[in-house]
Amino acid sequence: MVEARSIRGRAMRSRENAGRLYVCPTPIGNLEDITIRVLRMLREVDLVAAEDTRVTGKLLTHFDISKPLVSYREYGEERRIEGILSELASGRSIALVSDAGTPGLSDPGHKLIKAAIENGFEIEVLPGPSAVITALVASGLPTDSFVYQGFLPRKSGERRRLLTELLESGRTVVLYEAPHRILALLKELSDIGGERRVVVARELTKRFEEVIRGSAQEIIERLGERPRGEMVVVIDRGKPRRKEVTPDELATEVERFIRAGVSKKDAISRVSKNLNQPKRAVYEAAKGIKAKL
Ligand code: SAM
Repeated sequence: MVEARSIRGRAMRSRENAGRLYVCPTPIGNLEDITIRVLRMLREVDLVAAEDTRVTGKLLTHFDISKPLVSYREYGEERRIEGILSELASGRSIALVSDAGTPGLSDPGHKLIKAAIENGFEIEVLPGPSAVITALVASGLPTDSFVYQGFLPRKSGERRRLLTELLESGRTVVLYEAPHRILALLKELSDIGGERRVVVARELTKRFEEVIRGSAQEIIERLGERPRGEMVVVIDRGKPRRKEVTPDELATEVERFIRAGVSKKDAISRVSKNLNQPKRAVYEAAKGIKAKL
């Protein structure tokens, strides 16, 4: 954590005079995706804090914005963050921008956001582009419940353990991966997840945008030997695991439905569906049960 007690003291004492940190998402490819509000904010703030001043400099030039830029990343990160907090304390408003997408999501913007909050500064997050949501929606896989993991750890043991855990989560999984490691990830996925549906969303919003769907093995074949571009991997939640249910429990459930007036055939179907058990097993368990009870 950036320890900046005197900065924090000043921010607390004169909060109304302290500047705000505006978290400003930028396009993940297509420059038309910048929002009107982000453009206004970039024009209005006193200073822009960037992950890489060259990348953000180009973006600002494209939109004809001229603003002092400071990096929160390059050499001596902690001191740079402290410097930015001092600017906030002295009443200057700052836009936080990363190289692409929403700052703070799998990029170093998170450290500055955390430090600003811990030191009592107000932050305001502007909504905007992010690869995770764009890929998730493009995947067509269930969106009601998903796990965003960002980049997996590099160490193979840790990586495999986490991947196995994610595949058992019962949720759609969203991962970021670099192009030179994508084939290894898909191979691991094929070993652990087998035929599970996978979607690789490549170069989103860019000219060569591509959404590839299939099993991990099928996608490996589609990508070829040297895949290029930025990629997000979205993995289907898979079928929920079948819980162990005894024949007696199945029979009791079927009986319950029959007593409630449901036909034996429908009762078997409902139990099979509700308990995620093969119809055949429920049928066998219910053999001795009368059609009317
Ligand atoms: N903060 C960013 C966001 O909101 O999406 C993510 C930053 S992270 C350092 C960069 C990763 O995001 C890339 O390795 C890739 O996995 C993903 N990514 C960024 N832009 C992308 C794009 N246009 N298409 C596919 N993936 C992209």
